[in-house]
Amino acid sequence: MGERYDIAILGSGPAGLSAAINAKVRNKNLILFGSKELSGKLVKAHEVNNYLGFYGKSGQEMAAAFQEHIKAMDIQVTEEKITNVYAMGDYYALATKDGMYEADAIILASGVVFGKPFPGEKELLGSGVSYCATCDAMFYKGKKAAVLGYNKKDEEEADFLAQVADKVYYIPTYKEEVQVDEKIDVIEDTAVAIKGDTAVTALELKKQELPVDGVFILRESVAADQLVPGLEVDGSHVVVDRTMATNLPGCFAAGDIVGPPYQYIKAAGEGNVAALSAVSYLDKKRREKKG
Ligand SMILES: Cc1cc2nc3c(=O)[nH]c(=O)nc-3n(C[C@H](O)[C@H](O)[C@H](O)COP(=O)(O)OP(=O)(O)OC[C@H]3O[C@@H](n4cnc5c(N)ncnc54)[C@H](O)[C@@H]3O)c2cc1C
Repeated sequence: MGERYDIAILGSGPAGLSAAINAKVRNKNLILFGSKELSGKLVKAHEVNNYLGFYGKSGQEMAAAFQEHIKAMDIQVTEEKITNVYAMGDYYALATKDGMYEADAIILASGVVFGKPFPGEKELLGSGVSYCATCDAMFYKGKKAAVLGYNKKDEEEADFLAQVADKVYYIPTYKEEVQVDEKIDVIEDTAVAIKGDTAVTALELKKQELPVDGVFILRESVAADQLVPGLEVDGSHVVVDRTMATNLPGCFAAGDIVGPPYQYIKAAGEGNVAALSAVSYLDKKRREKKG
C-alpha cells in the first residue's frame, strides 16, 4: 500500500480533468485514473460547436488542448482501471488489477454506462461474473470461461486468462479483426444472458449456449453501484445534490455518470463543483480532527 491521497478521481474525460485541475489549484494531493487518450467519447467527436472557446474544433483537437493544460499543471493520468471501490469509514480503498490505492475523498467521473446489465449479471457477480480477467484469472485454473470483449485492448486480458484456464471463448462486440492466442475460440455471436443458480453455469448467446464456469464482461465503464457498493443510484445514474455529493460521505460524482444532458461543458462544470466540494469536505474533516 502506498501513500494516502487527498482525492482520487476516477475518469479522465472532461469531468475528471476539470476536477483534477481544480483540486490541484487548491493544493490537494490527487491521483487521476483514466487513459492516456483521455476519453473515447472526447476523441470520437468530429466537430464540437458548443464548448466555450473551442468553436469548430474536433474532439481530437480539444483532447490535445486538455493534454497541454494538465501537463502545464503537472497532472499525470494514471493509466489503470479501478475495479472496485470500498468505503472504509473515513477513507476509500480503490482496487486495480495490480494493487490498491487509498484516498480520503473520491470523485466518480467515469462516464455513463448505457444498456441494462445482462440477466444474471448482478445476481452472479462474484460467483462467476467478473469485470477483470487479469484480477480473477487464477480462479479459473482447469475451468472454462467466456470473455465479452468491448475493444481490442480486451484481447490481452483474454490471452492472459487462456494461460490459466482450460478453455476460453472470446466474444467480440466490436468490428475490428480479432488477434488472440490460437487456444482461444473466437465466437461471432451476441450475448443474451448469464445462467446459473448459485454460480455461473453457462453463457446464453443468440445462436448457442456455452457451458462455462465464468463470464468476464470487459466493458469500459462498470455500473456505478457495482463499482462502489452502497452508492445510491437512479437507473444508470448516480444520485447527487447540488454540491455533487453522493449519499456516501467523501464521495462525489460529476459528468455523464450523474445524468443528462450529456455534454462536455456540463461535465467540466460539474467536475469543478465536485472538486471544490471535496476540498471543503477534507478541510472540514481536518478541522474536526484538530478539535
Ligand atoms: C461521438 C460523440 C460526439 C459527441 N459530441 C459532443 C458535442 O459536440 N458536444 C458535447 O457537449 N458533447 C458531445 N458528446 C458527449 C460527450 O462526449 C460527453 O458528455 C462527455 O465526454 C462526458 O464527459 P465525462 O467526463 O463525464 O465522461 P467520459 O468522457 O465518458 O470519460 C469517462 C472516463 O472515465 C474513464 N473510466 C471509466 N471507467 C473507469 C474505471 N473503472 N477506472 C478508471 N477510469 C475509468 C474512461 O476511460 C474515461 O477516461 C459526444 C459524444 C460522442 C460519443
